[in-house]
Amino acid sequence: MSRTDGSAALLAATALHKSFGSNEVLRGIDLTLHRGEVVVLIGPSGSGKTTVLRSLNGLETPDSGVIAVDGGPEIDFAAKVAQKQRFALRDSSAMVFQHHNLFPHLTVLENVIEGPWRVQRRPKDEVVAEALVLLERVGLADKADARPHQLSGGQQQRVGIVRALALKPDLLLFDEPTSALDPELVGEVLLVIKELADEGWSMVVVTHELSFAREAADHVLFMDGGVVVEEGAPEQIFEAPREERTQRFLKRIL
Ligand code: ADP
Repeated sequence: MSRTDGSAALLAATALHKSFGSNEVLRGIDLTLHRGEVVVLIGPSGSGKTTVLRSLNGLETPDSGVIAVDGGPEIDFAAKVAQKQRFALRDSSAMVFQHHNLFPHLTVLENVIEGPWRVQRRPKDEVVAEALVLLERVGLADKADARPHQLSGGQQQRVGIVRALALKPDLLLFDEPTSALDPELVGEVLLVIKELADEGWSMVVVTHELSFAREAADHVLFMDGGVVVEEGAPEQIFEAPREERTQRFLKRIL
């Protein structure tokens, strides 16, 4: 991706490698994202997309490679990575998972404030006020006192998104946010993500929803077998893919 203003990338990952036992899952992944950009990762199941996302969030530790956040110090995974650096990575982003992972015994509001209040230790009244605004934004203000099981899957996933926003991260990471939903609930969740993208949130999204990718992405990476086979603007990837592997994948999925 080229930028003319020369600003440092919000996220720059270079040559990420990761193996699980003898299974080499990432074979040198580069990913750059500038503030306000939406990068979408597509590719067949098992190609390493989730592992990339988890590496960006500090949930997974690559065997080698470098990640730098917002022009800050490089985290070199080939060196012994200080725990503090891993935490810095985790603090800069918030992840929305395939399954929302809400705490079943807490209300919607309590789920949303858990991170900013108990982990980030911000004042409770401030955090509650912000959470209510965010819930209102995704149409769930009236569900603040409900328990997760009283909500539809799409509503639960929207709470998952609000929970990520409440952490005020620099970067949102979405790991197949709609793949566990019934088809009729997918649209409402994609709409929220698209609105956040339009508002200028920086995000990396793993998804099989290609029409969403086409509309929302600034940049698309097609992964297969632990490498980025092809990347470019959505129009190029979807309308004129250059690589045969990309063409085959798109034919299969469209
Ligand atoms: P994708 O998101 O593209 O489906 P993943 O990153 O989830 O791909 O997985 C890539 C490969 O890594 C798969 O073969 C998967 O089985 C393997 N894998 C992922 N996480 C682990 C883990 N924690 N332990 C062992 N193997 C893993």
